[in-house]
Amino acid sequence: MSSVDDSSRDDDRETVRAQADRLGLSVGDDLLGELATVVRQAAEGDANPSEKGDGAVDVPEAPGEWMCHAGHRAEDSENALLAVYDESRTRTDVGPLAGVTVAVKDNIAVRGLEMTCGSAAYSVVPSFDATVVSRLLDAGATIVGKANMEPLAMGPTGEFSDFGHVTNPLDSERVAGGSSSGSGAAVAAGTVDLALGSDTGGSVRIPAACCGVVGVKPTHRLVPRYGFVDFAPSLDTVGPLARDVSTAATALEAIAGPDHRDPTSVDCTASSGTPLDGVTEELADPDDAAGLTVAVPESPLGRADDRVAAAVEGAVDRLGDLGVATDRVTLDFDGLDDAYLNVGAAEFSWLLAGSGVVRGQGSGYNEELLAAFRSARQNGLGDHVARRVLPAAVLDAETDGEAYAAGRRRAVAFAESLAAVFESADALVLPTLGVLPPRVGETTTREDLLPLVANTAPCNLVGVPAVTVPVATVDGLPVSAQAVAPRFADATALRVAGALERVAE
Ligand code: GLN
Repeated sequence: MSSVDDSSRDDDRETVRAQADRLGLSVGDDLLGELATVVRQAAEGDANPSEKGDGAVDVPEAPGEWMCHAGHRAEDSENALLAVYDESRTRTDVGPLAGVTVAVKDNIAVRGLEMTCGSAAYSVVPSFDATVVSRLLDAGATIVGKANMEPLAMGPTGEFSDFGHVTNPLDSERVAGGSSSGSGAAVAAGTVDLALGSDTGGSVRIPAACCGVVGVKPTHRLVPRYGFVDFAPSLDTVGPLARDVSTAATALEAIAGPDHRDPTSVDCTASSGTPLDGVTEELADPDDAAGLTVAVPESPLGRADDRVAAAVEGAVDRLGDLGVATDRVTLDFDGLDDAYLNVGAAEFSWLLAGSGVVRGQGSGYNEELLAAFRSARQNGLGDHVARRVLPAAVLDAETDGEAYAAGRRRAVAFAESLAAVFESADALVLPTLGVLPPRVGETTTREDLLPLVANTAPCNLVGVPAVTVPVATVDGLPVSAQAVAPRFADATALRVAGALERVAE
């Protein structure tokens, strides 16, 4: 009996090893054993390795030598920033973002500043600006530097950057959220006014919610990704974080719109949705939201921590004072988190196999960034990335793509149920996180990650816009709601977010 177990264990190790070799991920014996167990449990339909005490991840030490990273700002006590300009960079002092200081997540190219994607394996000093950065400069913004992040944008807490963990300025015992950890912390601390983050499964909205600021995940393909290092191209979006909805909306207006260097980017004014033009003026009108209807789903509220649910319910009730009607709806979120984890990690494994490009999926055709991606792969992306990618890569290979297709089908079904909701409601409002910001060191397994992405990742799977706003405080910690709207109705999501901001306590 035990020899059968031993041989199936050996088979599982070989399966993981084969994928690791194919993708250029080097894994030590311990990690191989851990991932073989994960793969075995997944095959047996047991999705809870943590109960067996396996799969726990060591949280890296607090910031060490990397605190002295060149250009690091002494006043950045959150370790939110990485490379910064000696003198902050502006292109023009006129424009809607004149005087607004910006940190840019370190997976977005900024000319002359080292880019690491939060990984010690990745390094390039781009000779060019990502389209979004160039557009912010054209709108008058001042670029300060790069924001710390989880390695390759994987991780929901801000504890795993190779350059030290990011501290939550509201409460150092709570995580800053991830993966755009430095973006959230730098905005919340007042180090900058605005930050760019990226959101594949919640990575703008999770740190925004943990740090008590506004975060925008735009409609997929509204904002061009040229100069951005993808995690999962069909889910990836670049979006702004700010201390108020108006600044975030102004930034989104500046960065949205097609770019020939990202052939997947689209012109929102040419689509069926609402163009962004004028949204900042609308937000300034206190009666702007009157007449809108928001849908509130029972199940995510039911799944949320009681205090989080009550705080979001309270905000929704107060929306009535602004003339916003509420509609209770039932939405089935089951299986969406698994779909997200499989789709996201499988797409990253294709990027690894394709040396940085998934053909037809967008933005990765820049030689500097492709060369940096190839070198990073050679240098070894490390255990954190391997843990995320290999289980999905094994599943993808063993099911010949069927697991990925099943995830996509689940997303299509969810998109259909969401479309039905939007027939009678302008937007959906639900808690951004179902829980309060976790304590540092508490999020170690896949199961710990799930409550953090449960309400955010479904939006990425269907491409819709979602704007998160802090609406209340519980035990001194922020609780945020997100406004979700139909694809390309980003202006509506912003207007509902503006209303939530007005009724925040
Ligand atoms: N933090 C989430 C995760 O680790 C989302 C990642 C992201 O959006 N980049 O999956």
